[in-house]
Amino acid sequence: MKYVNTGVVFQEIPDEVTLSINISNCPCHCIGCHSEYLWDDIGDPLNAISLGSLLHDYAHDITCLCFMGGDAEPQSVNNLASWVRDNYPTLKIGWYSGRSKLSEEISLDNFDYIKLGPYIEAKGALNKPTTNQRLYSIHSGEMTDITERFWKKR
Ligand code: SF4
Repeated sequence: MKYVNTGVVFQEIPDEVTLSINISNCPCHCIGCHSEYLWDDIGDPLNAISLGSLLHDYAHDITCLCFMGGDAEPQSVNNLASWVRDNYPTLKIGWYSGRSKLSEEISLDNFDYIKLGPYIEAKGALNKPTTNQRLYSIHSGEMTDITERFWKKR
């Protein structure tokens, strides 16, 4: 699994300062994708070493880490999230998946937020009340739909 770039973002996860990690080799191929460059298998390896280096630089400035993509290798996303849980226990962990259904390789214990759903141009992204996409917060293994938080803010 590889990542192309990172950024500190404020809107992807409500009320969190998030380090987003853009993972390549996206298999979803949504029509109208905002980031088609992520369809290619490009970038640098994303593993405990590279993730540890990123968190060494950012951990004091963020409240959340979010894996953006990684649907080609959900088990790798899950393993890295588990590593973050163990090594940065106060950090929230999110995953933006383009799939409609959560992968069976994901353990909810490793995540605080999960977004599901492909991008469908006619329905819009998370900030549109018409969207098909959903953001869930996770507590004690339960997923709660918090998508409407995006609509109240705008
Ligand atoms: S999941 Fe995201 S990156 Fe992948 S094709 Fe869809 S919009 Fe693009």
